[in-house]
Parts: sequence; structure tokens; C-alpha cells
Amino acid sequence: MSDWEEDDSEGGVAITKSAITAPTEWKPPHNDSQGQDVFSGVRNGANSGASREWRADRNGDGSEYKSRRGGGEVRPYGRSTDRGGPGRPTFGDGKSDSSQAVTFTVENASVGRIIGRGGAKIRELEESTGARIKINNGDSEGEVVLFGSSAAQQKAKEMIEDLLADRNFRPRNGGGGTGDDGGVKERSVWSTVELQASAITPAPPSIDWNDIRENKDKYQELKWKDLPPLKKNFYTEAESVSMLTAEEVSEWRKENNDIFVDDLKEEGEKRPVPNPCRTFLEAFDLYPEIMENIERVGFVKPTPIQSQAWPVSLSGDDVIAIAQTGTGKTLAYLLPGFIHMDGQPVPKAERGGPGMLVLTPTRELALQIETECSKYRYKGYKSVCIYGGGDRRAQIALVKSGVDIVIATPGRLNDLQMNELINLQSITYLVLDEADRMLDMGFEPQIMKILLDIRPDRQTVMTSATWPTGVRRLAKSYLKNPMMVYVGTLDLAAVNTVQQTVLIVHEDEKKSYVFDFIRNMQPLDKVLVFVGKKLVADDLSSDMCLQGLAVQSLHGDREQCDREEALKDFKESRVRILVATDLASRGLDVIDITHVFNYDFPRNIEEYVHRVGRTGRAGRSGAAVTLITRENWRMAPELIHILERAGQEVPEELVLMAERYEKHKREKDLAAPRGGGGGGYGRREGGGGGGFGGGGRREGGGRGGRDRSDNWAF
Ligand code: AMP
Repeated sequence: MSDWEEDDSEGGVAITKSAITAPTEWKPPHNDSQGQDVFSGVRNGANSGASREWRADRNGDGSEYKSRRGGGEVRPYGRSTDRGGPGRPTFGDGKSDSSQAVTFTVENASVGRIIGRGGAKIRELEESTGARIKINNGDSEGEVVLFGSSAAQQKAKEMIEDLLADRNFRPRNGGGGTGDDGGVKERSVWSTVELQASAITPAPPSIDWNDIRENKDKYQELKWKDLPPLKKNFYTEAESVSMLTAEEVSEWRKENNDIFVDDLKEEGEKRPVPNPCRTFLEAFDLYPEIMENIERVGFVKPTPIQSQAWPVSLSGDDVIAIAQTGTGKTLAYLLPGFIHMDGQPVPKAERGGPGMLVLTPTRELALQIETECSKYRYKGYKSVCIYGGGDRRAQIALVKSGVDIVIATPGRLNDLQMNELINLQSITYLVLDEADRMLDMGFEPQIMKILLDIRPDRQTVMTSATWPTGVRRLAKSYLKNPMMVYVGTLDLAAVNTVQQTVLIVHEDEKKSYVFDFIRNMQPLDKVLVFVGKKLVADDLSSDMCLQGLAVQSLHGDREQCDREEALKDFKESRVRILVATDLASRGLDVIDITHVFNYDFPRNIEEYVHRVGRTGRAGRSGAAVTLITRENWRMAPELIHILERAGQEVPEELVLMAERYEKHKREKDLAAPRGGGGGGYGRREGGGGGGFGGGGRREGGGRGGRDRSDNWAF
């Protein structure tokens, strides 16, 4: 939500969104057929130049909602004139079925609760439901007016009811109980002015931080005393695995994406690293239901990450799996998780909450993991997917009905946790999936808060595609003596099937390059245009719309239903251009993408490989065009390395750019010698070699070498 700005002018709190990403209601002259001309219609989620405001009027004569269009025109929300027309983006809910406004009353004391501090709650309600909410304060009760589709209105009404029914909410000054109906239509005890002041300036709670710091360990001990017993080790090494010699193990790891395992225990003797399981039976012989599931889906053998991560996590150790989407990492943690839950000494019925939690950065990944969970359903375990933008009420209802596995994005889970709608204390198996992305997306505070409520002696698995400082810090804080399993870096097989063109350009030339490219698209071409920022995605897709192109956009600020619609339109070829941020770079499975166009160069080379891998799928050929500017010069050496490995042409200009960068780096290093230097993980078991930076693991050095050659020490 980085586009929101708070503005305290005009005596009220005005919250302005600088770039509304709500969908337009522009309907293209529809053409659903495959192979439609890309210029045949407009279908875009971007909507530039519009803004909206919520005003909490401190004078006591009511709050109101207004929408403002370019030119500063201010009109009340929900008028029929707001609703579309060619070329007029609207503030609808993404569907054209805007219904009559729904109105209901709440007691005045509840109005502040709905608005939230500085308007935060009402904004959240709007974002997660798609409805627009207007509140009028009356003398004794407040009037809530909901605009949008009937589904959005219904959802908003339910969420408001939930909010007001929350037993934890107490108006300050101890006044007026909320009663059974959660405050709806009850006697007001606050005047409007008091009420709004309380919504805007709540009294800070008095917390004695010194006392908390001094007694941290004592509080921890108190908090976690009387925990039910926990079992973590479920592994019995198969005889065929025990009999492998060190040379055989080393050879096998080398042949399987160069698997690297290390014990990151900091004190005392290092533990022996378990041998890999080369077959499913070697890992799950004792668990016939798991074997049946695997046989049912027809997998032939474990992927490298599975073969090494399974024996470690089945043994009960914490695991850090450095692996990317597409490597089979989800099953690498899910299957041991199932076994872990089933093997707990406390019967399921007495645990009082879920046993496994998977935290993952995006809704798309959460849904994908849930699909895997359902596919390999074990012992009838129930899972729930909790993510912002999804139906909060339905998610809460599912949690309350009793679930075993929670797959969640940190923001929404933290919301449920803070409202005491979910019990996290029963969790004994925790997964931090794609930790690097969760950190990139700024989820660290929410993760920290969530983990405060999870028992410290749990088993934790963390996956990450990269191993930068932030991820190491997270691992050090939340994993106990983990084993690290690292599987060869980039899936170069994917990029080998893609013809890659790199163009060195100036920033201000980028638009003309992308439009040239689109002008030359063939009717059956389908392009995924990657940009670096959500605003650029809006901006570029708006420009394309204005040029009459059928385009969709996908980024994290769009509402979930719009993201799903964008993806569906693209998958089903209603649009053949999708402008997206890196939200779409991993795991997006659209098999007929013919081109990837990297409008902005990605933040790292792994992301480049992910992006390029979106085309050339399922045995098809694909092409990628990448614009690179002088500002991206530090990426040049790694890009050259990838192009060479994939047998692609390396432009002379790119080589010069890389040379200039290397020279600059050398000069900088000379000017400020860093001293000390790397160390790096020494390999502990057979196979030798000098850690990530050397030993031929990542020829060419670059980011992978740099990130991974740092030691566990922080
Ligand atoms: P992931 O890396 O977890 O996103 O998995 C990518 C895909 O690989 C998913 O569709 C999995 O169902 C599939 N997969 C997982 N394990 C295996 C395996 N051992 N053999 C073949 N495919 C697998």
C-alpha cells in the first residue's frame, strides 16, 4: 500500500491514493477468440490520474466519502455518473453489477471502530471487500452506506458485523456495553466529537519496556510453561541408504544439481549429515498412505531438494532449503509436515488448533500450496488458505470450524492473530516459504509478531531462493541449529529453450521500444511485459489502453479478484499483453506465452531466470527481449554469464558495460579496502571444494557467489 499518502490538511484527515488501481469498467469491443488482434480492444486494470478521499470531519457534522477525478472535481461516491462509459475509468468493484446502495445503522460508539485510527480500518474494509463505505453520524446512531456490487456490499456488511461483534473491543471510559448484537442499534454513550477524537488519537497504552526487557526470559518461560509434549523425530534410515559410502553420497549429490548440505549449528560438535534418499520408498517406506499418494500422481523419483531435505526434516531438525519454485520444494516440506502432525503424542481433537503453519509471500503461492496440500491429502487433514483480499469472513469461519493446516500470507494472518480469531499456540510445524521474497515485500514485522505466539520448541523449515543477509538474520532468529540444504542455483534448462535478446537503451527510450515490439506482434503472439514497480505497471498499461491495445496488468496493489481476472483474461487469450511486476515471475503457469519483455531489468539474476522461464514452456520455443540501462550495469557480468551458459549471443555493448563495471568495482575496492574477506562455507563432508564462492559451484562469481560466500556469522 505504498501509494497511500496521509494528508492532514483542511482540518480533517484526508487519505489520498495517488494511483488508484481499481479496475475500469471499460469493456472492449469484445473478442474472445484466440488470435485476436492486440489492437482490437481495451481491457485494463490501470487507471491513472484519479484519486479519492475519505474525510473524517472533526466538526462533528458527519464523515463523508468523496471521489475526485482529474482536475480536482469532487463528487459524492456512488453516483450513477461515476459508472463508466468509454474511456471513463470508474471506482466500481471490478464488476459492472453495481447495486443500489445498502444502508444500515450502528450505534454511534461503533462508528470509530469502523473508521479506525486515521481511517485505517475503513480503508482496509474497502480494500478487502471492494465496496465503498460512507458513514454519516446522526444524533444517536451512525448510518453506514455501502456502494458497489451486491457481493461486495454483502462482504463489507459481514466484515463490519464481525468487527463489531468482536468481544475484545471495549469503548474507552467503560461506557455502554455492546450487547449481543455487537453494538448495532444500541444506545450511544459518546458524543460524535468525542468519538471521532478517540478514533483519531487513541490514548497510548503505557508499557514498561525496561521491565519487559529485563524479565524477557522469565516471561517467555511463563508463557510457554505447561506445553503439551512434542515429538519431532520420525526417521528410520533405510538399509540401502545407510549402506551408501561417502564417495557414493558425494557422487550422487554432485549429479543431482550439485546438492550441498551443511550443519549450521554454532556450538559444539557438528552433527553428521544424513545421506540422501534416492527413491520415495527410502524416505516413506513406513508411511504407506504417503506412498499411495505419490504413486497416484505418478512421480518417478524425488527431486534433488526432496531427496536431501526429507531425511533431515523427518529427523526433526530445522531445515533451511535454498531452492526455487519448480524444484519440488513444496512437497519437500509438506510430506514431513503431514507425518509430524500425525505423530504428535497429543490427539488431534485435544490440540485446540492447527498443527502446521505455512507462511508464504503471495496469495497466488498460498493458493498453489493449498492445491498441493489437497492433492496429497493425508489422514483427512483440513487446510485453510488465509490471505488478504480473500473472503475474510469465510476464512474465519473455516478456521473456527477446525483446521489442521494453515497456509497464510503474513499480513492477513497477523490481522486474525491480533483479533484473537486464530490460535497459533498449537502449531508445532512451521514453514517460512520463500523467506527472501517475504522480506523483500516488507513482511518482517508481521512475521515477528506471528512467531511470538508459536511455541519456541517447534520444528521450523525455511525456504528461500537466495541467501542474503536479511534471510540469514531471519534464520538465525527463528531457526534452531538448522541444517542447510542447497540445491544448484538456476534452472538454466528453462532459459536454454528461450531465444534471449538484450538491448542496451536509455531510460527514456524504453516506451518506444516496447510499443515497437507490440506493433510487430503476430496475431498468435502473447507477451508478458515485466516492470519493476507497481506504478510503472499502471502507467504503462494505461498508455497501452489509450493506444487501443487489449491489455491487463498484474501487481500486488490490485485487488485479489482483479488479479485473478487479469490472469484469466491472459490465460484464456482475451488479452495477449500482460504488464506485470515480479509477482508474476515465479510459478505463473501460462503455457502459450511466446514472449517475455523485460521493460525494467529485474533486481537480481535469479529473477531474470524466473522471468525468462515464463516462456518456452512445455516444449515450446519462446523469446525474451530485455532492456538494460546504464543504471543496471552491475547486473551485466552475471547476465553475460547466463547468456553464455544458455548459448545465446552476447552483445558487444553488454561486454563493454560489464568491463566498465568491473573496473569501477576494482577502483572502489582499492579506494576502500574491506579487509577480512569471506571465508565461506567449507564443505564438511566428502566431495571437497571450497564453499559456495569457489569450487566451481558458481563460475563467474556474481550475486550467487557473493551472497552465499558470506558466513553464517552476522
Ligand atoms: P514446487 O517447486 O513445489 O512449486 O513444485 C513444482 C511442481 O513439481 C509441482 O507441480 C509439483 O507437483 C511437482 N513435483 C513435486 N515433486 C515432484 C517429483 N518428485 N517429481 C515430479 N514432479 C514433482
